[in-house]
Amino acid sequence: RLSTAAALEEPITPPVKVSHTKLLINGQFVDSASGRTFPTLDPRTGEVIDHVAEGDAEDVHRAVGAARKAFDEGPWPRMTAYERSRILYRFADLIEKHNDEIAALETWDNGKPFVQAAQVEIPMIARLFRYYAGWVDKIHGLVVPADTAHHVQVLYEPIGVVGQIIPWNFPLLMFAWKVGPALACGNTIVLKTAEQTPLSALLVSKLQHEAGLPEGVLNVISGFGPTAGAALSSHMDVDKLAFTGSTETGKIVLGMAARSNLKPVTLELGGKSPMIIMDDADIDKAVDLAHFALFFNQGQCCCAGSRTFVHESIYDEFVEKAKAKAERRIVGDPFKTGVEQGPQIDEDQFNKILRFIKSGVDSGATLVCGGERIGNKGYYIKPTVFADVKDGMEIAKEEIFGPVQSILKFKDLDEVIQRANATPFGLAAGVFTKSLDVANTLARALRVGSVWINCFDVFDAAIPFGGYKMSGQGREKGIDSLKNYLQVKAVVTPLKNPAW
Ligand code: NAD
Repeated sequence: RLSTAAALEEPITPPVKVSHTKLLINGQFVDSASGRTFPTLDPRTGEVIDHVAEGDAEDVHRAVGAARKAFDEGPWPRMTAYERSRILYRFADLIEKHNDEIAALETWDNGKPFVQAAQVEIPMIARLFRYYAGWVDKIHGLVVPADTAHHVQVLYEPIGVVGQIIPWNFPLLMFAWKVGPALACGNTIVLKTAEQTPLSALLVSKLQHEAGLPEGVLNVISGFGPTAGAALSSHMDVDKLAFTGSTETGKIVLGMAARSNLKPVTLELGGKSPMIIMDDADIDKAVDLAHFALFFNQGQCCCAGSRTFVHESIYDEFVEKAKAKAERRIVGDPFKTGVEQGPQIDEDQFNKILRFIKSGVDSGATLVCGGERIGNKGYYIKPTVFADVKDGMEIAKEEIFGPVQSILKFKDLDEVIQRANATPFGLAAGVFTKSLDVANTLARALRVGSVWINCFDVFDAAIPFGGYKMSGQGREKGIDSLKNYLQVKAVVTPLKNPAW
């Protein structure tokens, strides 16, 4: 078995070249209007991978103009559903064909293990585009009965120009969750990538054009939140906004949407999801699942099981085994086979996580293992486990977004329901039990958008995902996501002969 030390030897040269660094506007890769660029960094070393065009308000305005024209003049919204669907299927085929190249770029820019990108995430993206390709010719209206002598039709129309802002933790998966349903419904798009991870979306968008997407339908802007992101959120000609990121920024973009043209907004925000381990659990399996729920993707998941609630009767044994599991986790160069955890995304997140770890120690939680950086280059953090965590501690309340597991003790079902729900977030929850009654009770009592029973992080294209409370508004994936991207129109006609 590979050791962390071995996995951290000299960084491996990524098996891919950066091919696109400009903004994609109206089907062309172009420099930013200001001519400015910004560096995108390799989280393994902190060194520059490449310089990328920095879009801001003027570029967003140009991109929105291109998307408006492509929407108003077509052909995209007016193509037959069959034609649009075929383009999305071809796109999925091209993603599959370039799977490893795309995955390598994702790993290089983000730091996630290459096997995770190549074997799980990129295939999921191809699958998701096929799922939405299948919807295109099944989005249709209704004829509804009226009390009066009228023929009433309900039409579902594309909503128009869609603005989309995505984060860095799953750059392409978030791209797919947003772009897939928006295109299926016939909209045109301006998407802003996260400033930490601009590369993979540019490569993939080039493939969309190879698949036959007309120019101006999908525009991609690399750039920063307060400039490009703000310009998109407050643009008067954007008809709908979809955002994934922090709750704090979610509030800002919602405010900008309200103050500009009242565009509807969907939000996927932060979480502090409970992972509840009941006393009847097979402890070894529960330890493995809780470990996966938290440490997957370097702990950088909005739905991470970041409050591990363990029944008091198995608590000590669970903590011992969770420690052993965390200590066995292989941290290192994400391109190396056998590595389970790469570096954190950037210096800001790295420092923020180390601050949270200090706060855990200062507030009296027991640091069971980890708690410090690994090596002296890049943003690697030791898998960290805290026991004796209390609800009021900062590490039990705030989103850490890193490889830090907090284990809390509980006595009975009512108590754990109350404590699991005592948070402003409501994104997801995990439940581990053999009892159907307990599983059913928890599934109904937890105020969250996803409940995973004896599993975690199951992200099928057809399963809706989103939050209650301050974890967001609306749902992505599945049939529910289509509703975000459609307008509803009632068409009413008098009936000459109501008997027929
Ligand atoms: P963020 O919310 O600042 O960034 C997400 C996206 O929003 C990026 O594209 C960013 O450029 C854009 N953005 C930032 N400020 C903006 C503004 N004023 N107007 C418009 N767009 C803006 O998140 P972050 O700073 O990258 O990470 C901070 C924290 O957010 C993390 O520590 C984590 O807790 C959380 N986070 C959550 C998710 C999630 O999937 N829910 C993803 C990434 C980060």
